Amino acid sequence: MSSSRLALLGGSPTVTERHEAMFHWPIVTAEDEAAVLDVLRRGAMSGTDVTRRFEEEFAAWQGTTYALGHNTGTAALHGAMFGCGIGVGDEIICPSITYWASALQVFSLGATVVFAEVDPHTMCLAPNDIEHRITPRTKAIMVVHYMGHPADMDPIMAIARRHNLKVIEDVSHAQGGYYRGRMLGTFGDVAAMSLMSGKSFAIGEAGILVTNNRTIYERAIAFGHYERYNETIQDPELIPYRGLPLGGYKYRMHQMSAAVGRVQLKYYDERIAEIRRAMNYFWDLLADVPGLQPHRVPPASDSNMAGWYAPHGLYKREELGGLSVTRFAQAVSAEGVPCTPGVNKPLHTHPLLNSADVYGHDRPTRIAFSDRDLRQPPGSLPISEQLGHRTYSIPWFKHYDPAIIEQYAAAYRKVAEHAEELLQDDPGDPPELGGWHFYQPH
Ligand SMILES: *Cc1c(COP(=O)(O)O)cnc(C)c1O
Repeated sequence: MSSSRLALLGGSPTVTERHEAMFHWPIVTAEDEAAVLDVLRRGAMSGTDVTRRFEEEFAAWQGTTYALGHNTGTAALHGAMFGCGIGVGDEIICPSITYWASALQVFSLGATVVFAEVDPHTMCLAPNDIEHRITPRTKAIMVVHYMGHPADMDPIMAIARRHNLKVIEDVSHAQGGYYRGRMLGTFGDVAAMSLMSGKSFAIGEAGILVTNNRTIYERAIAFGHYERYNETIQDPELIPYRGLPLGGYKYRMHQMSAAVGRVQLKYYDERIAEIRRAMNYFWDLLADVPGLQPHRVPPASDSNMAGWYAPHGLYKREELGGLSVTRFAQAVSAEGVPCTPGVNKPLHTHPLLNSADVYGHDRPTRIAFSDRDLRQPPGSLPISEQLGHRTYSIPWFKHYDPAIIEQYAAAYRKVAEHAEELLQDDPGDPPELGGWHFYQPH
């Protein structure tokens, strides 16, 4: 048994083993290995036969007419933006709390981004902060199902319809998740997502675009898939330029990734269901603990948390005597559970979104094609700017092993229940918490 004294204050830690198997991801078996070796031995790495099979299977799983493989999620989102017709002078509305690849590609299209707030409970685009940001130049809303949590799609789709805007879903954090009984990635005009190794659907460096819209699909092909930009293309505006990619990009998926993708897809739903069972159990164990609030949808609903990518908890410092989340996370880490405060930093505060002149327009790129200064200074998106102080990481369990999960939950409970002992030497939070990205390649 762990002592009741906090490890940070000289007690013994709650978790003393590493439990590597609980966190290892993705799950790779001989079947994945054989699929990769087949591509390698055939010399088919740059082909499209495996990728096309993967696209068919992925589209069937997703329930969309089309799927188009890409070499990264960044590329797939770029293709989705071009697919929607985003071009010079256009604006997209995107949450400020997300990974940069939900937004930055718009600059290469001559367009720009206006950031909106996230809801403090879902950490996804706040439906009530969208409409007043719409201008005649607004073309699309970028929705991110952040850290597995489904965005509130019903009001968002209603706003988009009212204003005739396209909706792009960035499903990089939530492949296979559901909102009100319907799969994420099927609400908007198009969805695109990362399938890179750090995500819950992890197949290498890869991304995929899914849509029911033939024009968007063909435009994405035309943008970055030169050898598929051929006689199969039907759109009269695209036909004259077949043979060369309109974007000047090469976005084809690597077939070793496609091969892994085909195998991973077979087991994915089952594996993320086990993740959800484990993660929900973790939060159920902490239900009565002050200061700690789950970032999740109610477990018995027709929405879910997908593969629970990069899970975090919400922090209520007022319930813990004002203890900073920085000190809280230090104390949890000392208990043997690595814990970091904060989520993605708000994009609107980065100098790239304010002062960088990337392409030599003699103006900041953010407003190079704008009819007004739409930059958003510090203080303009207060919920997003404070989110780092209200969040901390939690373990991302891949297996339902109650005895181990109980130990990890006990570490969070112990720190929260002894919070007042930490107040004395609390250095407080730095002004900014979180990071621009999380992935550490190994
Ligand atoms: C990872 C990620 C991307 C980009 O995907 P890559 O495959 O890394 O290019 C886009 N959006 C979000 C929200 C992501 O987390």
